[in-house]
Amino acid sequence: MSGLLIVTGASTGIGAATARMAAFNGWQRIVVHYAHDKAGADETAAMVESMGAQAYVVQADVSNPKAVAKIFAQVAEMKPGRIGLVNNAGIVAPTGKLADLTPERVAQVFAVNVFGAIEVIRQTVAVMRDWGKGGAIVNISSAAARLGAANQYVDYAASKGAIDSLTLGLADELAPEGIRVNAIRPGLIDTPIHAKGGLPDRLDKIGHTPPLGRPGTADEVAEAALWLLSERASYVTRTIVDVAGGR
Ligand code: NAD
Repeated sequence: MSGLLIVTGASTGIGAATARMAAFNGWQRIVVHYAHDKAGADETAAMVESMGAQAYVVQADVSNPKAVAKIFAQVAEMKPGRIGLVNNAGIVAPTGKLADLTPERVAQVFAVNVFGAIEVIRQTVAVMRDWGKGGAIVNISSAAARLGAANQYVDYAASKGAIDSLTLGLADELAPEGIRVNAIRPGLIDTPIHAKGGLPDRLDKIGHTPPLGRPGTADEVAEAALWLLSERASYVTRTIVDVAGGR
């Protein structure tokens, strides 16, 4: 596929699967973004390149607008043409109830999941406008946005609710420029995020609870993202797709 695909948080999990599958699906140039895990990003890039595509590894903490601006200065130099973005980087806070929601914790979750995602979109759209070829954005939300995640992480759920609203508003705002904006709400997906969020046995405990009886895989989310980015979804915008095993 011509153009440039940017995947944030592509060192592990859903982002890594999306970058790999994009190369398999014919994307020729893929920006593999990471924050802290260079080895993971290099591994994703090697997989991408083993399938004949070109990988560009870039680093930024998305909660730092200056760092995000720096990677988009690099993207502008790549003569991107049409751009696809999978706005995937995100964190979950350890499980907790209202009393555990310190201002610092909530600020961190929103800094990455909301402010970081907005800054990545803002910079992406600026480069899209410079190239005038339009493009497509897929935001990675969460089933938690719909379910609320009571007694677990309502702050994370609220941050993903913001992503859903952002998707609807920006889809309307950017449609006249030929930019499609959609989102995916993954359910319980087997990735490292659960262990990082302090819940290493989460999949063992509740992996069987979605109606389909198992957790999803990162590849199953990547499939939906690549369809939404592709011309096969050329009339799809302002849509939020649940990839949640019926949850
Ligand atoms: P993951 O932990 O494997 O991936 C998250 C990625 O985001 C990593 O590459 C990480 O380095 C990156 N990241 C974290 N903080 C960052 C920061 N400050 N700056 C830049 N990058 C940062 O987990 P995943 O499950 O693949 O998560 C991907 C997305 O899917 C997240 O937005 C997450 O909220 C969402 N999601 C996951 C699940 C699930 O069950 N796994 C469910 C719903 C939604």
